[in-house]
Amino acid sequence: MTTETKVEAINCKHFINGQFVESQNQKSFENINPATEEVLGHVAEGGKEEVDIAVAAARSALQGPWKMTTLEERSKILRRIGDLILERQEELARLESLDTGKPFSLANSVDIPRAAYNFHFFADYVISLGTDAYQQNQEALHYSIRRPVGVVGIIKPWNLPLLLLTWKLAPCLAMGNTAVIKPAEWTPMTATVLMEIIKEAGVPDGVVNLVHGFGPNSAGGAISEHPDVDAISFIGEPSTGSSIMKAGANSLKKLSFELGGKNPNIIFADADMDEVIATTIKSSFINQGQVCLCGSRIYVERPVYEQFLEKFVEKTKELKVGKPFDADTNVGALVGQEHYERVNSYIDIAREDGGTILTGGKRPEGLEKGYYLEPTIIADLDYTSRCINEEIFGPVVTVVPFDTEEEVIMQANDTHYGLSATIWTSNLKRGHRVAHQIEAGIVWVNTWFLRDLRTPFGGMKHSGIGRTGGAHSLEFFSELSNITIKL
Ligand code: NAD
Repeated sequence: MTTETKVEAINCKHFINGQFVESQNQKSFENINPATEEVLGHVAEGGKEEVDIAVAAARSALQGPWKMTTLEERSKILRRIGDLILERQEELARLESLDTGKPFSLANSVDIPRAAYNFHFFADYVISLGTDAYQQNQEALHYSIRRPVGVVGIIKPWNLPLLLLTWKLAPCLAMGNTAVIKPAEWTPMTATVLMEIIKEAGVPDGVVNLVHGFGPNSAGGAISEHPDVDAISFIGEPSTGSSIMKAGANSLKKLSFELGGKNPNIIFADADMDEVIATTIKSSFINQGQVCLCGSRIYVERPVYEQFLEKFVEKTKELKVGKPFDADTNVGALVGQEHYERVNSYIDIAREDGGTILTGGKRPEGLEKGYYLEPTIIADLDYTSRCINEEIFGPVVTVVPFDTEEEVIMQANDTHYGLSATIWTSNLKRGHRVAHQIEAGIVWVNTWFLRDLRTPFGGMKHSGIGRTGGAHSLEFFSELSNITIKL
C-alpha cells in the first residue's frame, strides 16, 4: 500500500527579512527525488549577495522589537512554533521523505514530532534557567546576566533536516539571537516550510533568515566568513568543520560543531541477545544508516560471534527495502547519486580488502531507479581497512570478533572519531568500567539513541566541538556578563 498520492513538492525560495525571495541573479538549481531520480522542483541558489542581505537583516533585527521580548514571550513563541509544526506534521513528513528518500513512516514518527519537541522542550527549559550569584564576604556581590551572542549562522546536513535544524534554532531563539540558516542543498523543503511557520508564530521579520545554496564559494562559505556573523552552529562532516573554522578565524567566531562518527557497538557474551539484535538492526540501518550515531563498527565477543552473526544476518534480510511511501518499507533510498556512489565505493573496498559480504552489497531487485542499496554486513576485514576506519554513512556495517575487554576498548578507541558508543552486557560493573574508558561524548549501555534533551550531547576528537542539550545549548547561544557590586 502506498500513501504517495497527496504529496506535493515545493519550489524553494530564500526567506530574508520576513519575505520569500528569489536570488538576485534569479539563479536556481534542481532538487532531485532520490527515490525516483526525478526533478522535484527548483531551489533558489544563494551566494555572497543573498548572505550579505540576510546578515544585514539579522543584525538590524537584533535591535528591533526582538530585543525587547521577555523570556516568557519568547517561550510562548517557541511553544507556538512547536504546535504549528505538529499541525502540519503530515505535510512536513511527506516533504522530508520526498527530499531525503527516507521512509515516510520514519519521518512521520521520528523526524517531525522531534522537531516540534525541540521547540516545546526549549520553551519550557529556558524559563527555568538561572545564573550564578556569589557573595564575597561582606565586600561584594557578584552575579551574572545572559545576553544573546548576536547573529548566528546555522549550517545543516541532509540526514535529519528539520530535526537537526530545530535542535539548533530553538535554543538560538530562546536566548534572543537572530539567525541566518543554510539548509543542506539536497534537502531544502522542510526548512522552507518552517519559515512560514516562524512567521505565523509571530517571530519578527529579520530574526530568522534562510539562504539556500551550496557549501564552499557559495552560501555556506559566505556565512562562515562573514564578519558580521558572531557564531556558527554547524552539523556536518569534520573536513567541512575545519573549512568553516578557517573561514571564521579572521572574525574569531564562536563555534559549535557536531560532526561525524564511526561508532563502536560492543557486544559482550553475557548480553541479552534478543535485545542486542533488535536494537542493532536499528542502530545499523535506521534512516539507511545515515545517522551520525549509527553503530557502524560492531565488535562481538568470540563465544557468541557465530550466534550473533546468524541471527543478525537473518533479521537484516527480513528488512524491506522499498519506496519511501510504501507502508511496509523499513529502508528507503539513500539521499543522492553522489552519496550513493560513495557508499557503494566502500563495498568495493571491502571486497578488495578481502572482506566477506554476509548479506547485501547490491541494489535490491525490482528497484531499478532511485538510490537503493540492500542493508550490508561485512565480516573478515583487517582493522586497517578503510571500511573500519572511515565513516561510510550508509546501510553498511562491519563485524569483528574480540577476545578480551582490553582488546575491544583499544579497538573502539583506535579512531579519530569520538561521537558515541554502545556497550551490551548484563554485568553492570563492566558496563560502567568500559563506558568510562571509551573515548566518546555519548555512551549507551544496553540501549541506543535513548535521549533526554537535558543531557550533554556532542563528540570528542574529530566528532565535534562543544556540547548541546539543555543548559549546554543555552550556554553556547548566550554570552554571560558578570556584574560585581561593592557592598
Ligand atoms: P557536509 O559537511 O558535507 O555538509 C553540511 C552542510 O555544510 C551543508 O549545508 C553544506 O552545504 C555545507 N558546507 C559544505 N562545505 C562547506 C564549506 N566549506 N563552508 C560552509 N558550509 C559548507 O555534511 P553532510 O554530508 O551534509 O552530512 C553528513 C555528515 O554530517 C556526516 O559526517 C555525519 O556524521 C554528520 N552529522 C553529524 C551529526 C552530529 O550530531 N554529530 C548529526 C548529523 C550528521
